[in-house]
Amino acid sequence: MPQNPLVEKTPVTLLGLGAMGTALARTWLSAGHPLTVWNRTPARAAALEAEGASVADTAAGAVAANTLVITCLLDDMSVGEVLAGLDLTGKDLVNLTTSTPAQARDRAEWSRQRGARYLDGGIMAVPPMIGVPESGGYAFYSGSEELFARHRDTLGIPAGTSFVGEDAGFAALYDVALLSAMYGMFAGAAHAFALIRKEDIDPAALAPLLADWLTAMAPSVHQTADQLRTGDYTEGVASPLAMQVAGTPAFLRTAEQQGVSPELLTPYFDLMRRRLAEGSDDEGLTGVIDLLVR
Ligand code: NDP
Repeated sequence: MPQNPLVEKTPVTLLGLGAMGTALARTWLSAGHPLTVWNRTPARAAALEAEGASVADTAAGAVAANTLVITCLLDDMSVGEVLAGLDLTGKDLVNLTTSTPAQARDRAEWSRQRGARYLDGGIMAVPPMIGVPESGGYAFYSGSEELFARHRDTLGIPAGTSFVGEDAGFAALYDVALLSAMYGMFAGAAHAFALIRKEDIDPAALAPLLADWLTAMAPSVHQTADQLRTGDYTEGVASPLAMQVAGTPAFLRTAEQQGVSPELLTPYFDLMRRRLAEGSDDEGLTGVIDLLVR
């Protein structure tokens, strides 16, 4: 989001200059935010120093420099190691390190005990998308809503922002939920490409068909959400589970005939069959979700 040039830019401390940290750093520098950086391997800070960043010799020095402290380290363990023993009193800690919801909640409590406000972030972008608004990259945030509101403009410089709740674990949860769905999509596409691998079919001819089909199917998640909310899993079903299960042998036989392992398909088909065996013929696929939740 563009900031008013007459308003002083919030100074930022950033700990962690890996691929993601470096991309984030550049956007704040370009936007005119005073930036103090620290990295375990000092050499990674050299280019940013030339671009105007202040380089701290120690993590303690970087943290002491500014109220807003952003971490973008490898994992939660490295955040604990870097911040161990540092004075975080009065700091606004924004942790953009990928973690689990439980780690994020623990880190929020850990920060509170040290007198810091805490906001957790999950970045839905790869480094080349950072600072490129048209790429659609954004980050989920959860934890202190007050802290999010205070730093929203600064956090919005590298990528879009989406606040998903006061529960500090929610950003990580949304992040993992979306990425898990993405891996399901990758798995399906891998199986599709494997099916044509030994044929005289150009993968480049299949690719646009796949992309269009997946795009056409993606909005079905709205119906799934509606059914989960109402509890009526038969509402608006166009392809009943019984019909879909009856079709699965054709998928498995085709895989066998093409010399392709069915291992990416069978776990999902097994769940569909189990749900059908419970007598849910008129439903679509939503009931599978209930089988997954333990
Ligand atoms: P990199 O592997 O490029 O960088 C890791 C960073 O963590 C480096 O600054 C490294 O320091 C530092 N680090 C690792 N272990 C320690 C430690 N024990 N003590 C101090 N510093 C440590 O990772 P990225 O920058 O790509 O990722 C950073 C975070 O962003 C991760 O949590 C990642 O999941 C998340 N993310 C990354 C995306 C991506 O596509 N890259 C996408 C979305 C989220 P050093 O230079 O000294 O090794």
